[in-house]
Amino acid sequence: MDRPLIELPRLFDVRLNAIEKIGENLDKLKLEGPVALLSGKKTYQIAGKKVQQVLEDHHREVHTFTVCDDSIETANEAIEFFKEINAFFAVGVGGGKVIDVAKYASHEFNIPFVSVPTAASHDGIASARASLKGVDIKGSFPAKAPIMVVGDIETLAKAPKRFTISGCADIISNKTAIMDWELSQRITGEHMSSYASTLSEISAISMIEAREEIAKDPIKGAYHVFKGLITSSMAMCIQGSSRPASGAEHLISHSLDQILKKPALHGEQVGLMSIFTMFLHGGNWKEIRETLEIIGAPTTAQQIGASAEELIQAISIAQSIRPDRYTILSTGVTEKAIVNALVKTGIIDKEEL
Ligand SMILES: [Zn+2]
Repeated sequence: MDRPLIELPRLFDVRLNAIEKIGENLDKLKLEGPVALLSGKKTYQIAGKKVQQVLEDHHREVHTFTVCDDSIETANEAIEFFKEINAFFAVGVGGGKVIDVAKYASHEFNIPFVSVPTAASHDGIASARASLKGVDIKGSFPAKAPIMVVGDIETLAKAPKRFTISGCADIISNKTAIMDWELSQRITGEHMSSYASTLSEISAISMIEAREEIAKDPIKGAYHVFKGLITSSMAMCIQGSSRPASGAEHLISHSLDQILKKPALHGEQVGLMSIFTMFLHGGNWKEIRETLEIIGAPTTAQQIGASAEELIQAISIAQSIRPDRYTILSTGVTEKAIVNALVKTGIIDKEEL
């Protein structure tokens, strides 16, 4: 069978003060030459500055670039910047936007990329795709899997709790993403990698098992969630697409991003929608809802700032965003069925209709 190449990160450093060890790890990877350090305004203060200091102490020539948004224009500016400084490798220090821009730009400029997330908020930290804003909508672009992922637990645990919770909910949603994949395998004959799907499922199960600790202990919580995000990212690297961790719940979240004036965090939206799609699949949706409740993630439309009407609309158009990705919504779920599922799962209240 013709399978694409599998690209995986080479080094993972997940520990309390991992940032302090970046220099040594770069030596191990033989990464030398001018460094392009990409960071956000805030995240530079939180961790970028420290990374720069450690790199300079290790005799690296560091040039900084501020990422203000996750648009294609910004990513292209970053590529120009790489050219100017003759960058040998890039280090992205920040949240999802910084990581996506750094990941895409280093792929286009063909240099290694080091991922230093400042929040454990989504599973793109080590995957080979970048989500960037195009002319009018957000799109997913091919990118480079990082050569090294640095999970500085102390930094991650200091991030607002909402981010870690969102990351955890993103991983929990792998449960329904896999069910959509299985459904597609049965109905359309789509190939399903048992290696990638098992990894993805393990990451979701580990979140359910660690839910109490994630809720109560910021350090242990950041550690569990970061490990889960890496596992989920690996599943996507092995598959060469987001399929193992992205089903109908992700499609609905993408349409919510378009519909809502102020969308909630990615993980908050996909976690909530995972309750809904699990109900449609006839699976254990109560377990997902209970886990989200325990960790403090949204379990109602109101909590993500969506009206019943907006949510129903988002679900109705979700499959059209990506018709080629077969999900439970491809089976012809009617509006009546959508409303019924939303009310039965408590996502919306009957009174709101
Ligand atoms: Zn996701």
